[in-house]
Amino acid sequence: MPIRQLSETMINQIAAGEVIERPASVVKELVENALDAGASRVEIVTSGGGLNLIRVTDDGSGIPEPELSLAIARHCTSKLAEDINDIRSLGFRGEALPSIGSVSRLSIRSRTASGEGAAEIGIEGGRVLPVRPAAANRGTTVEVRDLFFATPARLKFMKGERAESSATSDVVKRIAIAFPTVRFTLAGSDRSTLELPATDDSPEGSLRRVAQVMGAEFPDNSIPIDAMREGVQLTGHVSIPSFTRANALQQYAYVNGRPVRDKLIAGAIRGAFADVLPRDRHAVTVLFLSLDPAIVDVNVHPAKADVRFRDPGLVRGLIVGAIRQALADAGIRSATTGAAGMMAAFRPGAASYDHGGPANGHRSYEAAYRASGSAGFDPLRSPQRPLDMQFGSGFERAGARHGGFGEPGQAAFDTGPLASADARAGQSEAAETLLGTVLGAARAQVHENYIVAQTKDSLVIVDQHAAHERLVYEALKNALHSRPVPSQILLLPEIVDLPEEDAERLAMHSETLARFGLGIERFGPGAVAVRETPSMLGETNVQQLVRDLADEIADNDTVETLKERLDKIAATMACHGSVRSGRLLKAEEMNALLRQMEATPGSGTCNHGRPTYIELKLADIERLFGRR
Ligand code: ADP
Ligand code: MG
Repeated sequence: MPIRQLSETMINQIAAGEVIERPASVVKELVENALDAGASRVEIVTSGGGLNLIRVTDDGSGIPEPELSLAIARHCTSKLAEDINDIRSLGFRGEALPSIGSVSRLSIRSRTASGEGAAEIGIEGGRVLPVRPAAANRGTTVEVRDLFFATPARLKFMKGERAESSATSDVVKRIAIAFPTVRFTLAGSDRSTLELPATDDSPEGSLRRVAQVMGAEFPDNSIPIDAMREGVQLTGHVSIPSFTRANALQQYAYVNGRPVRDKLIAGAIRGAFADVLPRDRHAVTVLFLSLDPAIVDVNVHPAKADVRFRDPGLVRGLIVGAIRQALADAGIRSATTGAAGMMAAFRPGAASYDHGGPANGHRSYEAAYRASGSAGFDPLRSPQRPLDMQFGSGFERAGARHGGFGEPGQAAFDTGPLASADARAGQSEAAETLLGTVLGAARAQVHENYIVAQTKDSLVIVDQHAAHERLVYEALKNALHSRPVPSQILLLPEIVDLPEEDAERLAMHSETLARFGLGIERFGPGAVAVRETPSMLGETNVQQLVRDLADEIADNDTVETLKERLDKIAATMACHGSVRSGRLLKAEEMNALLRQMEATPGSGTCNHGRPTYIELKLADIERLFGRR
C-alpha cells in the first residue's frame, strides 16, 4: 500500500484513543473548557454511565457563532497565544472537541454576552453538521451522545454503568477542589446527585469545598500546610497520622490549579509520612503547588494529568519538609474520630437505661435516672458528691465524705485501682498545675494499660504500651540520625550488576550512603561493590536494597529508602523494648510518660499509626449524662 495522508476523522480518532479513554475523560475535558471560559456554575448530567449521554452546561463566556466550526476543528484553540512555556489555562492542545466529535454524536450550543442569539453546531463520528440558530442563555451547553459508537473496539473496554459513573464523580470532585468559587452539580438517572455549592477562595472557603468533597470530618482531622521555597508555593491540608486510609485514592494534588497524578508528589507524601504511618496505610492529602509555568512542563501526555518539574528535588524537598514540619508543629494530636467512636460507644442506649420514660436519646436517660429510686438525690450535682470529679483533689478527702453517701453500691468505688492510683497521683504531684498541660494530670491506671488523665476541660485516656513504643522509637531514630550508623564489614564484598547510569548515580551518593552504614564503591563499568552494610539490618538482601536505592535516586534523587528501612528496624526494636501493657505504673511514672509524649513530635500515634491517646471533652461527657 502506498503512503497516504490519513483523513481528518482518522487523525482525530487516533488522538481520541489517548485523550478520551472513557466517559470520565470526556467529562474532564468539557468541565475544563467550562472553567477556562470563566464559568461560575457548571452542571453535568449523564446517563448510561456517560455512554448514552453526557451534557455539560456552563455560564461562561460562550463561543461566538463564527468560531463554532473552529472549536471542533483540530489544533484550534483560543488559549495558547504564543508561548508553550507559559500555559495558564487547563486546555491548550485544541484537540478535545474534535477528538470527542470523531467518536460520538457531539453538539455545542453557545451564546456570548454580546452575541445576538445562540447558535449550535454538531459533529457525528467526524461528520460536521451545519451551524444553525438555537435558543439558549449565555454560556455553553455541550452534549455528547453515544460515545464510542464510531469506535466499537473501545466501546468493548468500558466497565459497567456503575464503574463509569463513579469514575466521572471522581473526576468532578477532583477538579472541583481546585475551583471552590464555582458551583458544580452532577446528576443523572445513573447516579445520586452530587451538589457542591460555591464557597470562596479564602483558605477557609477552600477547606469548606474540600469538606464538601471529602467529608465533614476531614477539616477536624487535618493540619494546614503553607510553605514556600525558591518561588514554589505549597498550600493545602494533610490528615493527622491517626486519620488514614487503606489506599492513596484520597490524595489530591494540583499544580497551578490543574489536578495531576504525579509519582514524585505521591512519593514525597509517602516519604513525609513514612515515620508516622504503617506501610499499608495512607494519608489523606490536598496539596496545591503554585509555581512559574515556565518551570513545569504540562505538555507531557494528551490527557494533561502528568507534569514534569524542572527541579524535582526542590519540589520533593518542599513537600516532605513542609509536611514533616507541620506534623511536628501540630505535635501530638489524635483523630477526633477516636473520641467520636468512644462517644458513640458510651452513649446510653435507650433500651437498657430507659425505665419507662420516652425512649428518645439521652435526655430521657437523665429523667429515667432521676426517677429510678435515687429519690431526688443526684450524686453528681450534690455538694456531697463522693468523688471530686471537677478537680480530682485526691481520694482521701472524698473517701472521708463517703460516710454521708447512702448508696451501698458506691462502696465498691473506693477500693478499686482507680481509687488508689488517684490517691497516689494526688499526693505526689502538684496536680493542679498539670491540668493546664495537653495531656493533663494522671489520675489512674486501669486494666493495667490505660492511663486516665484529666486536663482543664477533658478526660484523656492513654494507651501506655502504644505511647511508650512510640517514644522509644523516636529516641532510637534520633540516635540513628544524629551520628553515623554502625556498619558491619562484609567478609566478601557483594558485587551488584546494574545499568551504568544506576551505578554512576549510586557512586555519586556514596558519601550519604556511608553515613547510613552502607559502604559502596564503583566496581568497573556497570557494577558496584558493597563492602559494608548497616549492622542493624542484619542479614539483608543487598542486591535488592541497592537496586531499590538506584531506582529511588533515579526517580527522586534521594536515598530515603535506606533511611526508611533503618527507621522500620528501629520501630521493630522499639516494639520489643517498650513497656508492655500489664505493668503497673506509679503516678510519677504515668505523669512522666505524659510529659514525654507532649515533648515528642509524632507521639499522637503509635508506630503502627493507631492513636496513642483519646481525648473526651468534658462538654461531651456532660452531654452523655444529659447535663447539656
Ligand atoms: P482547548 O481547550 O485545548 O483549547 P478544546 O478542543 O477543548 O481545546 O476546545 C477548543 C476551543 O473551543 C477552546 O479553545 C475554546 O475557545 C472553545 N470552547 C470549548 N468549550 C468551551 C466552553 N465551554 N465555553 C467557551 N469556549 C469553549
Ligand atoms: Mg479543552
